[in-house]
Amino acid sequence: MNKIDLSIIIPIYNEEKNISVVYNRLIQVVEHLAIPYELIFINDGSVDNSLEFIKDLTNQNKNVKFIDLSRNFGHQVAVSAGLDISKGEATVIIDADLQDPPELIIDLYNKMKEGYNVVYARRKIRKGESFMKKITAKVFYRIMDKITSIPIPRDTGDFRIIDRKIINTLKRMPEQQKYLRGQIAWVGFKQTFVEYDRDVRYAGKTGYTYSKMLQFAFDGITSFSNFPLKFASITGFVVSGISFILILFALYEKLVLHNTVRGWTSLMLVVLFIGGIQLLSIGIIGEYIGRISANIRNRPLYIINESNIEEIKNKNTEQ
Ligand code: UDP
Ligand code: MG
Repeated sequence: MNKIDLSIIIPIYNEEKNISVVYNRLIQVVEHLAIPYELIFINDGSVDNSLEFIKDLTNQNKNVKFIDLSRNFGHQVAVSAGLDISKGEATVIIDADLQDPPELIIDLYNKMKEGYNVVYARRKIRKGESFMKKITAKVFYRIMDKITSIPIPRDTGDFRIIDRKIINTLKRMPEQQKYLRGQIAWVGFKQTFVEYDRDVRYAGKTGYTYSKMLQFAFDGITSFSNFPLKFASITGFVVSGISFILILFALYEKLVLHNTVRGWTSLMLVVLFIGGIQLLSIGIIGEYIGRISANIRNRPLYIINESNIEEIKNKNTEQ
């Protein structure tokens, strides 16, 4: 089998207007690098004509591979599917909307050659993104930084190059809630970054809705931090402490001062307060249990509908 130096993974969710532009720019990059390559398009349940555009490319260029997932599984899972099938000595993950400039791959590749296992692209500025998106992202990354035990690089997305060693390690981390940038940071080895300015989306609109972003944030936090669990127990302790003092006070009033039938309000306040804290704690525990059960179910992370890759075709007919 021919050796492939560079695999490029491009997750696609409704990107029909971007596919040919990103393809042309990627081709210029790999021609400049002059190395054996493959482009892997993962169609993540697009409802536009993205799949047809991708299939056209596979007819033009035998280095183009694709997987069509059976529905929309989300960006992280689409990228994971790409990692599973990529054959390259090095693999790049890049968005299809040209927010990640393909030309930066040359820098990522050259930097890796200096002896790194991971070179991620760190954004200096984010152009054309809503104020809400920028501020929520900023707050989220700062909080993550504070509450996780491993440092996950700030201001980076998944745009990066990783080598075979990293991919093989990632494949041994089959967790359901993917937070790839966290997993890659967790793996270790030699990691560095290059900086870039994040462009505006070339065409189409973002596939990351606020609900997907919130889900992603929760996955990131619960996968890499036990802080919410600790928070539940710490507030539990504090509230129990305060309650204990209040109980002593109540007993003192009754037994020493004989001054009882007051305090319906304070009673209600205490009950509600404790009820609230209990619900909060149970909720947090529920978040983790939900994720534990998702992992125990052991479902496949994604399901492939169609592909032009031989091994996958054979597997699909076996099913
Ligand atoms: N994407 C995907 N599945 C999804 C959402 C997005 O494969 O459910 C792809 C999308 O086509 C793009 C990349 O992931 O190539 C980044 O998505 P997007 O540009 O919508 O996110 P943003 O840049 O707004 O965070
Ligand atoms: Mg984008």
